[in-house]
Amino acid sequence: MPENIEYSRRSDRHKKSSNKKPSLSRWFFIPLLLIILLLVTAGSYFGVKQYVEQKEKEEHFAAQEQKILKEIQEQQDQSELQTEKEVTKHSKQTAIVYSPKKGQAPNDLSKEKLEKLLQKEQKKTNPSKAGIFVAHIHEKKATEKLKNQSLSVDSYLWNDQKEVFEKQEELSGESLYTLVETGEKVTGKTLIESEENLLGIQQVIQQKILDQAKEPNKIIDAVLNLPRISFKDEIDYSPEKIHIHLPDNKTGVHAIDLDYNEIQPFIKTDLVDPKFLEDKQPSNEKGGKQIALTFDDGPNAETTPKLLEILKEKDVNGTFFILGQNAQEAPDVVKSVHEQGHEIASHSYSHPQLDALSEKEVKEEVLKADKAIFEASGILPKSLRPPYGAIDKKSAEIVGKPIIQWNIDSLDWQSKNAQAVISTVNQVAQDGGIILMHDIHPSTVDAVGTVIDDLKNQGYEMVTVSQMLGNQEKPLTQYFGQDDHRKV
Ligand SMILES: [Zn+2]
Repeated sequence: MPENIEYSRRSDRHKKSSNKKPSLSRWFFIPLLLIILLLVTAGSYFGVKQYVEQKEKEEHFAAQEQKILKEIQEQQDQSELQTEKEVTKHSKQTAIVYSPKKGQAPNDLSKEKLEKLLQKEQKKTNPSKAGIFVAHIHEKKATEKLKNQSLSVDSYLWNDQKEVFEKQEELSGESLYTLVETGEKVTGKTLIESEENLLGIQQVIQQKILDQAKEPNKIIDAVLNLPRISFKDEIDYSPEKIHIHLPDNKTGVHAIDLDYNEIQPFIKTDLVDPKFLEDKQPSNEKGGKQIALTFDDGPNAETTPKLLEILKEKDVNGTFFILGQNAQEAPDVVKSVHEQGHEIASHSYSHPQLDALSEKEVKEEVLKADKAIFEASGILPKSLRPPYGAIDKKSAEIVGKPIIQWNIDSLDWQSKNAQAVISTVNQVAQDGGIILMHDIHPSTVDAVGTVIDDLKNQGYEMVTVSQMLGNQEKPLTQYFGQDDHRKV
């Protein structure tokens, strides 16, 4: 039976081995199942979680978007400008254009320009980034009479970390200043308004051309003969300056920019944004009494330098009405007058009675004096005192400068006596007065030291005519004193 045994053993072995198989696969299967189960559970858990989070994020985004859109609309509702709203959505970006209704803004601020500006801003942004872009006309009141309207785009970009819309720096486009009352654009004409202001600006232009020239002496004739600007010339208003196309001329300059501070006396300052205007308005809150010493008919090579010494010693500035022919004789004296800080003005070339001359003669008297004074000092006289105080409308128009008269006559030309000059001035001195004297008389020079001391003792501050008038003098106007201005 050993064979049997052998058999049975083998079959036992066989039995044994067929018993082992199912138990092994169970050991593998169960954990595997558990792992799969775990993975599925976890997967669906995270999937659901992610889904919920995503949903919440979207809701949060939508809420934030609504909030911003509401704010934008509220802001827009506050504007006085009537607009039409157009919204376009592209993926995660919303674009809104508030374009002005017809007649609500000048044509320069059109819907097309708003859209262009909007596209410019959008191009800067990654198209997959969520954002809100608002193109509108930004309005701001600059003065009571002036408002500023500018094309602008506000953009709000979504910040993924903070989960908020963040406002970006505003993009500004074209900007216009318009009149509050009519909504019309400000023009050169509305800004300058009058002929006398144009004449004032003419003088500023002439001096500026000379200041900018490399060799001013070569163009002085062309500058003095610069045809007068008129409202027919192109005068472009922009926020910070005025640009004037000059009439045909031989100065080599065909257009000029003037900043508003340069021409402040000759413009309606409430039509300029104050940020482009320094406060140069005359202050009425001057402390004490003011008086202006003026000296005519010079310079004289003997007496004027002596006078300058006294003025220097007393630390006083005056105004010199210079004769062109004398400036030619003593240019160095004119130069000293200017360098000492005194004001230089014109008294014509040869001391004629201007209102008795022809137009051509008046023009020649003014131009020749201007030229001589310029060649001596480098500046053009801003104002003129007509010989004998004689002026009429016609000659004042040709002169084109403020006319400075006087209200206190020292009578030095008559008395030629220092003591008489001193007592006359003492008797008639008044606040805001302009005192007439002549620096060609030795007796006047002898009197001046005491005149100044006496005036100081009476509490006067001695200033130049322009200082006293706050630099606000205008052509076609006569000034007899601080508060006595008359149209010629
Ligand atoms: Zn005179």
